[in-house]
Amino acid sequence: MRAYQNLLFLCRIWPGARNRRKKRASTDKERVAGISSPGNLKLKFNKNAYMQSTESNARVANYSSSLSAPARNSDGKNRTNDPFGLRRDFLENKFVYLAISPRARGLSIGINLNPDAACNFDCLYCDVDRSIGRSAWSIDCEVVARELEQTLALVHSPGLKALPPYSALPPELLRLKHVALSGDGEPTASPQFLEMVQSVVHVRARGRFPFFKIVLITNASHLDSADVQEGLMLFTTQDEVWAKLDAGTQAYMDLVNRGTVPLETIQRNILLTARKRPVIIQSLFSSVDGVPPSAEEITAFSHRLRDLKEAGANISLVQIYSATRPTASNRVAHLPLRAMSQIAGSVRAIAGLRAEIF
Ligand code: SF4
Repeated sequence: MRAYQNLLFLCRIWPGARNRRKKRASTDKERVAGISSPGNLKLKFNKNAYMQSTESNARVANYSSSLSAPARNSDGKNRTNDPFGLRRDFLENKFVYLAISPRARGLSIGINLNPDAACNFDCLYCDVDRSIGRSAWSIDCEVVARELEQTLALVHSPGLKALPPYSALPPELLRLKHVALSGDGEPTASPQFLEMVQSVVHVRARGRFPFFKIVLITNASHLDSADVQEGLMLFTTQDEVWAKLDAGTQAYMDLVNRGTVPLETIQRNILLTARKRPVIIQSLFSSVDGVPPSAEEITAFSHRLRDLKEAGANISLVQIYSATRPTASNRVAHLPLRAMSQIAGSVRAIAGLRAEIF
Protein backbone atom coordinates (compact mmCIF):
# COMPACT_ATOMS: atom_id res chain seq x y z
CA MET A 1 0.00 0.00 0.00
CA ARG A 2 2.88 2.31 0.66
CA ALA A 3 4.00 1.63 -2.88
CA TYR A 4 0.60 2.79 -4.10
CA GLN A 5 0.88 6.03 -2.14
CA ASN A 6 4.35 6.54 -3.49
CA LEU A 7 3.08 6.05 -7.00
CA LEU A 8 0.34 8.66 -6.53
CA PHE A 9 2.93 11.02 -5.15
CA LEU A 10 5.29 10.43 -8.04
CA CYS A 11 2.50 10.96 -10.56
CA ARG A 12 1.80 14.36 -9.11
CA ILE A 13 5.33 15.59 -9.44
CA TRP A 14 7.03 13.37 -11.99
CA PRO A 15 5.31 13.09 -15.38
CA GLY A 16 7.31 9.98 -16.23
CA ALA A 17 5.39 8.07 -13.60
CA ARG A 18 2.00 8.86 -15.16
CA ASN A 19 2.36 6.25 -17.87
CA ARG A 20 3.01 3.67 -15.22
CA ARG A 21 -0.08 4.88 -13.41
CA LYS A 22 -2.24 4.41 -16.52
CA LYS A 23 -1.18 0.79 -16.63
CA ARG A 24 -2.30 0.58 -13.03
CA ALA A 25 -5.82 1.88 -13.69
CA SER A 26 -7.54 -1.47 -14.08
CA THR A 27 -5.86 -2.85 -10.97
CA ASP A 28 -6.95 0.23 -9.05
CA LYS A 29 -10.55 -0.38 -10.05
CA GLU A 30 -10.30 -3.95 -8.91
CA ARG A 31 -8.79 -2.83 -5.66
CA VAL A 32 -11.52 -0.29 -4.98
CA ALA A 33 -14.14 -2.80 -6.04
CA GLY A 34 -12.73 -5.12 -3.44
CA ILE A 35 -13.82 -2.72 -0.71
CA SER A 36 -17.21 -3.47 0.70
CA SER A 37 -19.84 -1.10 2.09
CA PRO A 38 -19.46 1.81 -0.31
CA GLY A 39 -20.68 5.07 1.10
CA ASN A 40 -20.05 3.94 4.65
CA LEU A 41 -16.87 4.62 6.55
CA LYS A 42 -17.17 1.22 8.22
CA LEU A 43 -15.45 -0.41 5.29
CA LYS A 44 -14.36 -3.99 5.63
CA PHE A 45 -10.73 -4.76 4.99
CA ASN A 46 -10.48 -7.07 2.01
CA LYS A 47 -7.25 -8.91 2.65
CA ASN A 48 -7.08 -10.63 -0.73
CA ALA A 49 -7.66 -7.41 -2.63
CA TYR A 50 -5.13 -5.70 -0.46
CA MET A 51 -2.50 -8.36 -1.00
CA GLN A 52 -3.06 -8.41 -4.77
CA SER A 53 -2.92 -4.67 -4.94
CA THR A 54 0.16 -4.48 -2.77
CA GLU A 55 2.00 -6.93 -4.94
CA SER A 56 1.04 -5.36 -8.24
CA ASN A 57 1.61 -1.83 -6.98
CA ALA A 58 4.98 -2.86 -5.73
CA ARG A 59 5.82 -4.10 -9.22
CA VAL A 60 4.61 -0.90 -10.86
CA ALA A 61 6.29 1.39 -8.39
CA ASN A 62 9.46 -0.59 -8.57
CA TYR A 63 11.15 2.05 -10.64
CA SER A 64 13.82 1.91 -8.03
CA SER A 65 14.84 -1.60 -9.09
CA SER A 66 17.64 -0.09 -11.11
CA LEU A 67 19.13 1.41 -7.98
CA SER A 68 22.52 0.13 -7.05
CA ALA A 69 23.95 -1.44 -3.92
CA PRO A 70 22.38 -0.99 -0.49
CA ALA A 71 23.57 1.98 1.49
CA ARG A 72 23.93 2.22 5.25
CA ASN A 73 22.32 4.11 8.04
CA SER A 74 24.44 5.60 10.77
CA ASP A 75 22.79 3.15 13.19
CA GLY A 76 24.44 0.33 11.28
CA LYS A 77 21.25 -0.98 9.71
CA ASN A 78 21.20 -1.67 6.01
CA ARG A 79 19.51 0.94 3.94
CA THR A 80 16.97 -0.20 1.43
CA ASN A 81 17.42 0.62 -2.23
CA ASP A 82 13.95 2.13 -2.25
CA PRO A 83 14.27 5.74 -1.09
CA PHE A 84 10.63 5.68 0.07
CA GLY A 85 11.50 2.69 2.19
CA LEU A 86 14.28 4.66 3.79
CA ARG A 87 12.55 5.95 6.83
CA ARG A 88 15.42 8.25 7.51
CA ASP A 89 18.88 8.33 6.05
CA PHE A 90 21.29 9.62 8.65
CA LEU A 91 24.25 9.47 6.26
CA GLU A 92 27.12 9.65 8.76
CA ASN A 93 25.28 12.08 11.05
CA LYS A 94 24.09 11.78 14.61
CA PHE A 95 21.07 14.11 14.50
CA VAL A 96 20.45 15.25 10.93
CA TYR A 97 18.93 12.95 8.32
CA LEU A 98 17.45 12.90 4.85
CA ALA A 99 14.05 11.58 3.88
CA ILE A 100 11.94 11.53 0.73
CA SER A 101 8.66 12.72 2.16
CA PRO A 102 5.34 12.32 0.33
CA ARG A 103 3.77 15.04 2.47
CA ALA A 104 6.65 17.39 1.71
CA ARG A 105 6.47 16.26 -1.92
CA GLY A 106 10.17 15.66 -2.10
CA LEU A 107 13.40 15.86 -0.22
CA SER A 108 13.32 16.74 3.45
CA ILE A 109 16.20 17.33 5.82
CA GLY A 110 15.12 16.30 9.30
CA ILE A 111 16.59 16.99 12.71
CA ASN A 112 16.02 14.40 15.40
CA LEU A 113 15.35 16.33 18.59
CA ASN A 114 14.57 13.12 20.48
CA PRO A 115 17.47 10.70 20.08
CA ASP A 116 16.29 9.13 23.33
CA ALA A 117 12.90 8.42 21.63
CA ALA A 118 11.04 10.18 24.46
CA CYS A 119 7.43 10.96 23.62
CA ASN A 120 4.38 11.78 25.69
CA PHE A 121 2.23 9.92 23.15
CA ASP A 122 2.41 6.23 22.37
CA CYS A 123 0.63 6.15 19.04
CA LEU A 124 -0.42 2.73 17.85
CA TYR A 125 0.91 3.51 14.39
CA CYS A 126 4.24 4.94 15.54
CA ASP A 127 7.17 3.46 13.65
CA VAL A 128 9.70 4.19 16.38
CA ASP A 129 10.72 0.97 18.06
CA ARG A 130 11.04 1.90 21.73
CA SER A 131 11.81 -1.65 22.75
CA ILE A 132 15.43 -1.25 21.68
CA GLY A 133 17.83 0.31 24.13
CA ARG A 134 19.06 3.81 23.36
CA SER A 135 21.84 5.82 24.79
CA ALA A 136 20.64 8.90 26.64
CA TRP A 137 22.03 11.35 24.13
CA SER A 138 21.57 14.97 24.83
CA ILE A 139 21.51 17.25 21.84
CA ASP A 140 24.62 19.18 21.01
CA CYS A 141 23.39 22.17 19.03
CA GLU A 142 26.85 22.88 17.65
CA VAL A 143 27.01 19.36 16.24
CA VAL A 144 23.51 19.76 14.83
CA ALA A 145 24.45 23.03 13.14
CA ARG A 146 27.55 21.45 11.66
CA GLU A 147 25.66 18.39 10.43
CA LEU A 148 22.94 20.61 8.99
CA GLU A 149 25.47 22.68 7.05
CA GLN A 150 27.17 19.54 5.73
CA THR A 151 23.84 18.07 4.69
CA LEU A 152 22.74 21.31 3.04
CA ALA A 153 26.05 21.35 1.16
CA LEU A 154 25.39 17.78 0.02
CA VAL A 155 21.84 18.36 -1.22
CA HIS A 156 22.91 21.49 -3.08
CA SER A 157 25.76 19.67 -4.80
CA PRO A 158 25.90 16.90 -7.43
CA GLY A 159 27.14 14.64 -4.63
CA LEU A 160 23.65 13.56 -3.59
CA LYS A 161 22.80 12.36 -7.07
CA ALA A 162 25.85 10.13 -6.95
CA LEU A 163 24.66 8.38 -3.78
CA PRO A 164 22.47 5.30 -3.90
CA PRO A 165 19.50 5.24 -3.62
CA TYR A 166 19.17 8.85 -4.80
CA SER A 167 21.02 8.24 -8.06
CA ALA A 168 17.91 6.79 -9.71
CA LEU A 169 15.53 9.56 -8.68
CA PRO A 170 14.36 12.39 -10.91
CA PRO A 171 15.77 15.84 -10.09
CA GLU A 172 12.33 17.01 -8.92
CA LEU A 173 12.49 14.61 -5.99
CA LEU A 174 15.96 15.75 -5.03
CA ARG A 175 15.04 19.39 -4.64
CA LEU A 176 15.06 20.34 -0.96
CA LYS A 177 11.56 21.13 0.28
CA HIS A 178 12.25 21.97 3.91
CA VAL A 179 14.24 21.41 7.07
CA ALA A 180 12.00 19.63 9.59
CA LEU A 181 12.24 19.81 13.36
CA SER A 182 11.08 16.31 14.14
CA GLY A 183 12.43 13.20 15.76
CA ASP A 184 11.94 9.87 17.41
CA GLY A 185 9.58 11.55 19.85
CA GLU A 186 7.90 14.90 20.39
CA PRO A 187 10.37 17.64 19.37
CA THR A 188 8.72 20.39 21.41
CA ALA A 189 9.22 18.30 24.55
CA SER A 190 12.97 18.64 24.17
CA PRO A 191 14.41 21.02 26.79
CA GLN A 192 16.67 22.28 24.00
CA PHE A 193 13.87 23.09 21.60
CA LEU A 194 14.39 26.85 21.71
CA GLU A 195 18.17 26.54 21.46
CA MET A 196 17.71 24.24 18.48
CA VAL A 197 15.39 26.65 16.67
CA GLN A 198 17.92 29.40 17.26
CA SER A 199 20.71 27.23 15.81
CA VAL A 200 18.75 26.35 12.68
CA VAL A 201 17.63 29.93 12.15
CA HIS A 202 21.25 31.00 12.58
CA VAL A 203 22.44 28.54 9.93
CA ARG A 204 19.82 29.96 7.59
CA ALA A 205 20.68 33.56 8.43
CA ARG A 206 24.33 33.03 7.56
CA GLY A 207 23.19 32.74 3.97
CA ARG A 208 25.68 30.11 2.87
CA PHE A 209 22.88 28.12 1.25
CA PRO A 210 19.70 29.00 -0.61
CA PHE A 211 16.80 29.91 1.70
CA PHE A 212 15.13 26.87 3.22
CA LYS A 213 11.76 26.59 4.89
CA ILE A 214 11.65 25.32 8.47
CA VAL A 215 8.79 22.98 9.41
CA LEU A 216 7.93 21.97 12.96
CA ILE A 217 6.27 18.54 13.06
CA THR A 218 4.50 18.23 16.42
CA ASN A 219 1.78 16.40 18.30
CA ALA A 220 0.72 19.84 19.60
CA SER A 221 0.92 18.84 23.26
CA HIS A 222 3.59 21.43 24.14
CA LEU A 223 2.68 24.22 21.77
CA ASP A 224 1.59 26.32 24.74
CA SER A 225 4.95 26.24 26.48
CA ALA A 226 6.82 29.53 26.70
CA ASP A 227 9.95 28.14 25.02
CA VAL A 228 7.99 26.78 22.09
CA GLN A 229 6.06 29.99 21.58
CA GLU A 230 9.33 31.93 21.76
CA GLY A 231 10.89 29.57 19.24
CA LEU A 232 7.95 30.03 16.88
CA MET A 233 8.47 33.79 17.07
CA LEU A 234 11.71 33.17 15.14
CA PHE A 235 9.82 31.51 12.29
CA THR A 236 9.27 33.51 9.12
CA THR A 237 5.91 33.59 7.38
CA GLN A 238 7.23 30.92 5.02
CA ASP A 239 7.98 28.48 7.84
CA GLU A 240 5.27 26.04 8.86
CA VAL A 241 3.81 24.18 11.82
CA TRP A 242 2.41 20.71 11.09
CA ALA A 243 0.25 19.70 14.05
CA LYS A 244 -1.15 16.24 14.69
CA LEU A 245 -4.89 15.77 15.24
CA ASP A 246 -5.99 12.15 14.87
CA ALA A 247 -9.32 12.07 16.68
CA GLY A 248 -12.65 13.74 17.18
CA THR A 249 -13.35 12.20 20.57
CA GLN A 250 -11.28 11.63 23.67
CA ALA A 251 -12.09 7.92 23.55
CA TYR A 252 -10.62 7.55 20.05
CA MET A 253 -7.59 9.61 20.97
CA ASP A 254 -7.04 7.34 23.96
CA LEU A 255 -7.22 4.38 21.61
CA VAL A 256 -4.78 5.59 18.96
CA ASN A 257 -2.50 8.20 20.57
CA ARG A 258 -2.42 6.71 24.06
CA GLY A 259 -1.00 9.88 25.59
CA THR A 260 -1.53 11.78 28.81
CA VAL A 261 -2.57 15.07 27.25
CA PRO A 262 -6.34 15.57 26.82
CA LEU A 263 -7.81 16.23 23.41
CA GLU A 264 -9.15 19.57 24.67
CA THR A 265 -5.57 20.66 25.40
CA ILE A 266 -4.44 19.62 21.93
CA GLN A 267 -7.30 21.58 20.40
CA ARG A 268 -6.55 24.62 22.57
CA ASN A 269 -2.84 24.51 21.66
CA ILE A 270 -3.59 24.27 17.96
CA LEU A 271 -5.90 27.25 18.30
CA LEU A 272 -3.29 29.23 20.21
CA THR A 273 -0.76 28.68 17.45
CA ALA A 274 -3.09 28.89 14.47
CA ARG A 275 -4.37 32.27 15.59
CA LYS A 276 -0.83 33.56 15.13
CA ARG A 277 0.26 31.72 12.00
CA PRO A 278 -1.10 29.17 9.51
CA VAL A 279 -1.06 25.58 10.73
CA ILE A 280 -1.22 22.41 8.68
CA ILE A 281 -3.15 19.65 10.42
CA GLN A 282 -1.76 16.13 10.04
CA SER A 283 -4.31 13.39 10.62
CA LEU A 284 -3.50 9.72 10.41
CA PHE A 285 -6.41 7.32 10.36
CA SER A 286 -5.99 3.59 10.16
CA SER A 287 -7.96 0.52 11.06
CA VAL A 288 -7.27 -0.71 14.58
CA ASP A 289 -7.59 -4.45 15.15
CA GLY A 290 -9.33 -4.58 11.77
CA VAL A 291 -11.87 -1.87 12.63
CA PRO A 292 -11.77 1.45 10.75
CA PRO A 293 -12.79 4.70 12.45
CA SER A 294 -16.55 5.01 12.69
CA ALA A 295 -18.54 7.54 10.70
CA GLU A 296 -19.42 9.20 14.03
CA GLU A 297 -15.72 9.58 14.86
CA ILE A 298 -14.98 11.21 11.52
CA THR A 299 -17.93 13.55 11.94
CA ALA A 300 -16.71 14.52 15.42
CA PHE A 301 -13.21 15.06 13.99
CA SER A 302 -14.58 17.33 11.27
CA HIS A 303 -16.61 19.27 13.83
CA ARG A 304 -13.46 19.87 15.89
CA LEU A 305 -11.77 21.30 12.82
CA ARG A 306 -14.83 23.44 12.15
CA ASP A 307 -14.77 24.69 15.75
CA LEU A 308 -11.10 25.58 15.40
CA LYS A 309 -11.76 27.48 12.20
CA GLU A 310 -14.73 29.33 13.67
CA ALA A 311 -12.63 30.28 16.72
CA GLY A 312 -10.09 31.97 14.46
CA ALA A 313 -7.60 29.20 13.65
CA ASN A 314 -5.86 29.65 10.32
CA ILE A 315 -5.67 26.07 9.06
CA SER A 316 -4.19 26.10 5.60
CA LEU A 317 -4.47 22.38 4.91
CA VAL A 318 -5.58 19.11 6.47
CA GLN A 319 -3.37 16.20 5.45
CA ILE A 320 -5.21 12.88 5.58
CA TYR A 321 -3.07 9.77 5.47
CA SER A 322 -2.85 6.29 6.87
CA ALA A 323 -0.36 3.95 8.46
CA THR A 324 2.18 3.01 5.82
CA ARG A 325 5.52 2.24 7.36
CA PRO A 326 6.11 -0.88 9.36
CA THR A 327 4.79 0.03 12.80
CA ALA A 328 5.98 -1.07 16.21
CA SER A 329 2.45 -2.37 16.89
CA ASN A 330 0.78 -4.92 14.63
CA ARG A 331 -2.71 -3.66 15.52
CA VAL A 332 -3.00 -1.07 12.76
CA ALA A 333 -3.50 -1.40 9.03
CA HIS A 334 -3.75 1.02 6.15
CA LEU A 335 -7.22 2.33 5.33
CA PRO A 336 -8.57 1.84 1.82
CA LEU A 337 -8.27 4.87 -0.41
CA ARG A 338 -12.05 5.21 -0.52
CA ALA A 339 -12.26 5.54 3.26
CA MET A 340 -9.60 8.25 3.25
CA SER A 341 -11.47 10.05 0.47
CA GLN A 342 -14.58 10.02 2.62
CA ILE A 343 -12.67 11.48 5.56
CA ALA A 344 -11.29 14.25 3.36
CA GLY A 345 -14.80 14.85 1.98
CA SER A 346 -16.16 15.15 5.51
CA VAL A 347 -13.50 17.71 6.42
CA ARG A 348 -14.31 19.75 3.33
CA ALA A 349 -18.07 19.56 3.81
CA ILE A 350 -18.27 20.15 7.56
CA ALA A 351 -15.23 22.29 8.30
CA GLY A 352 -14.90 23.98 4.93
CA LEU A 353 -11.16 23.35 4.95
CA ARG A 354 -8.77 22.23 2.25
CA ALA A 355 -8.01 18.54 2.69
CA GLU A 356 -5.60 16.37 0.77
CA ILE A 357 -4.98 12.63 0.87
CA PHE A 358 -1.43 11.34 1.01
S1 SF4 B 1 3.58 11.56 18.61
FE1 SF4 B 1 4.89 10.88 16.93
S2 SF4 B 1 6.76 10.08 17.89
FE2 SF4 B 1 5.19 10.24 19.50
S3 SF4 B 1 4.29 8.19 19.58
FE3 SF4 B 1 3.03 9.44 18.18
S4 SF4 B 1 3.86 9.06 16.11
FE4 SF4 B 1 5.40 8.34 17.63
